[in-house]
Amino acid sequence: MNYCSRCGTPLVYRTPSGDNRPRFVCETCRTVHYENPKLVVGSIPEWQGRILLCRRSIDPRSGKWTLPAGFLENGETVSQGAAREALEEAGARLTDLVPFAMFNIPYVNQVHLMFRAKLEDPHVWAGPESLEVGFFEEEGIPWNELAFPVVKETLKLFFLDRDRGFRCFHLGDIPPISLDEF
Ligand SMILES: [Zn+2]
Repeated sequence: MNYCSRCGTPLVYRTPSGDNRPRFVCETCRTVHYENPKLVVGSIPEWQGRILLCRRSIDPRSGKWTLPAGFLENGETVSQGAAREALEEAGARLTDLVPFAMFNIPYVNQVHLMFRAKLEDPHVWAGPESLEVGFFEEEGIPWNELAFPVVKETLKLFFLDRDRGFRCFHLGDIPPISLDEF
C-alpha cells in the first residue's frame, strides 16, 4: 500500500500511538489503513456421491484442480458467497449448504470457510476462471493435481467423515508449505 485511499497522500508505515504494531498511516488525513485477514468461502458440491471440482484457468495454480471458492464480497453472507462462487466457477446451483470446516492460513493472511453442499441438478459448465469442471468419485480425485493444500485437507476430511459416518465441524490450521511440494 503506497498512497492513502482517502486523500492520496503517500503513506507512512509506523506504529500509531496506542497501538502495538506498525500500520500504514496517512499523516495528512490521519486515517490508519488497517490490513486484516481475508475470508475465503467455498464448498464441496456433491451429486450422487461424486464431488464437483474445477480446473483453474487463472494463476496462481492454473491447470490444477480445486473446489469452488473465493473471497467473500461486501454485503453477502458466507453461504451466499459460497453459492455464488460455485455458480460463477462451475455454473453449479447449490442447495443444503452446511458448514463443514474452517482453516486458518496465517502465512497468506486468509481464513477459509468450507461448506458441504448438494447440487440442485448435475448441469454444470466451466465459468471464466475454469478450464473444465467435472464430477469425481473418491478414487478418481486427482490428488497430485490439486491446486492448494487447503483443498487437499478439505477433501481428506470430507471422505474420512463419510467413511466413518461422522458429521462434525472441523477447525484446522494449514502450515506454510511450498505449492510444488504438498
Ligand atoms: Zn489520507
